[in-house]
Amino acid sequence: MNIILFGPPGAGKGTQAKELIERFNIPQISTGDILRAAIANQTPLGLEAKKLMDAGSLVGDDIVNGLVEERLKEKDTENGFILDGYPRTVEQAKVLDKILEKQEKEIDKVIALVVEDDEILKRITGRRVSKKTGKIYHIIYNPPVDENPEDLIQRDDDTEAVVINRLKNYKAQTAPVLDYYIEKGKVAEIQGERESKYITEEIIDLLENNCNI
Ligand code: AMP
Repeated sequence: MNIILFGPPGAGKGTQAKELIERFNIPQISTGDILRAAIANQTPLGLEAKKLMDAGSLVGDDIVNGLVEERLKEKDTENGFILDGYPRTVEQAKVLDKILEKQEKEIDKVIALVVEDDEILKRITGRRVSKKTGKIYHIIYNPPVDENPEDLIQRDDDTEAVVINRLKNYKAQTAPVLDYYIEKGKVAEIQGERESKYITEEIIDLLENNCNI
């Protein structure tokens, strides 16, 4: 089962991906996580990407397409994968189609999480990530109970000014990707402003009833 988790920053893609990994035993491929790992390892690619990411701009299509193509060659993606944060431009979506075609695969479903801008701003500016466990929290909505406060960090691009820019770029560059997949009849829109567990239930139901798994 090959799926894309789609939606604006802060829609809950990462949170839902973690649930789906457990349920379906397929890996999450988050281009944001791959890029952050490159930054942490101070690779040339990471250093180049960091400036763009810190400003809330997108990293170049060629770079992310190359990362995803390599990742999709790995064996753990054979039975399926969850793309999170990719494709983010129509150009990326077209390249992804070509990458998958070479592997005789295709996207089965695009799960689009719908969340309004004011809610996104609240969510992202309060978001904290554990550098130990990778778990995602919110200082008010989902405060951590068994984490050491020193392990919780705010992403450099989760500040209000940067989020506003990320949202602007989402509307201009990423929202059109949804139309690309709507035309192919692959999109399921899911209301993302609810308690996380209800969203997970709806996604799992939808995938179990619509995909060969
Ligand atoms: P995310 O963790 O998905 O919110 O991504 C964080 C940042 O990484 C984005 O704001 C972009 O700067 C960069 N990024 C992640 N995925 C992509 C992508 N598919 N295309 C371009 N830039 C990306």
